[in-house]
Amino acid sequence: MKKPTLYIIIPCYNEEKVLPITSGMFLNKILQLVKEDKISDDSRVLFVNDGSKDRTWEIICDLAKKDKHFLGIAQSRNRGHQAAVLAGLMEAKDRCDITISIDCDGQDDINAMDKMVDEYLDGCEVVYGVRSKRDKDSFFKRFTAEGFYKLLAAMGVEVVFNHADYRLISSRVLQEFANYKEVNLYLRGMVPLVGFKSTSVYYERNERIAGESHYPLKKMLALAFDGITSLSVKPIRMVFFFGLLIMLLSFVGIIWAVVAAFMGKSVAGWASLACIVCFMGGVQALFLGVIGEYIGKIYLEVKGRPRYIISERTWEEDHE
Ligand code: UDP
Ligand code: MG
Repeated sequence: MKKPTLYIIIPCYNEEKVLPITSGMFLNKILQLVKEDKISDDSRVLFVNDGSKDRTWEIICDLAKKDKHFLGIAQSRNRGHQAAVLAGLMEAKDRCDITISIDCDGQDDINAMDKMVDEYLDGCEVVYGVRSKRDKDSFFKRFTAEGFYKLLAAMGVEVVFNHADYRLISSRVLQEFANYKEVNLYLRGMVPLVGFKSTSVYYERNERIAGESHYPLKKMLALAFDGITSLSVKPIRMVFFFGLLIMLLSFVGIIWAVVAAFMGKSVAGWASLACIVCFMGGVQALFLGVIGEYIGKIYLEVKGRPRYIISERTWEEDHE
């Protein structure tokens, strides 16, 4: 069997401090896997510069000049981590057989790649890197991150618990993934939608080797919000059920107003007004929910996602 070509996809934003250290680690990993005969020597480390304002791009260009295993692309400006990873994956998908996306700060254990490649060689098309422990993360980060995974699951989004963006994806899956045209990216929630055989590999997450995090609370919240709103229409459905509830309560209110009027416990005109207010409140909330249902449908339609993906056929396809 032909040995697969691996592309390691690495988003970099203002990483001049850490790149000189970790680039060598990535290269060694490629060389080691080549030596072990697991991957071909055409394998590359592909850096994606995400509009860095420091010397990151110069460093990437130097690396590319020094060793053929290093490649770099640059986004025209800073577009965020998810867009950078996607750019790298799409750039690589026609040049390789497998991609592994990983952050450039050395937080994710590079040695887990061995297991990922083994799983691929055993027939898996997607291998998720999952953090086995989070004890190196601050309590706050751990608490918010783990709570968020649970919230996503409750919203009906299929996510792998404690998996970030360290994963192996085969080019075959990427060809299908390219048909997911949405612009609100939440890759870790989108990859499971594509399907194919997948598994997880566990690793310990370390501290950043150098430099500092580019994910302040604000960006984390934005990513979390994107995750929910781009993969789930449940919030809209909640409006519908809220409307239904208000509607039911309004009937109780109407009965109460009528009974109070008959018992002579109200001023003239109050009961009819109270009835109208309750009823209109309920009707409006319910109708908003109905409109929301359609907006939800429109939202899913405009994404233009593929309606089906075929993974196997009993006959061989010709490759001409
Ligand atoms: N990153 C990026 N664009 C951004 C922010 C971050 O490409 O706008 C990259 C960054 O260089 C790193 C990865 O995304 O390789 C993860 O970022 P970071 O380590 O700062 O996040 P944390 O691990 O603290 O969540
Ligand atoms: Mg990091």
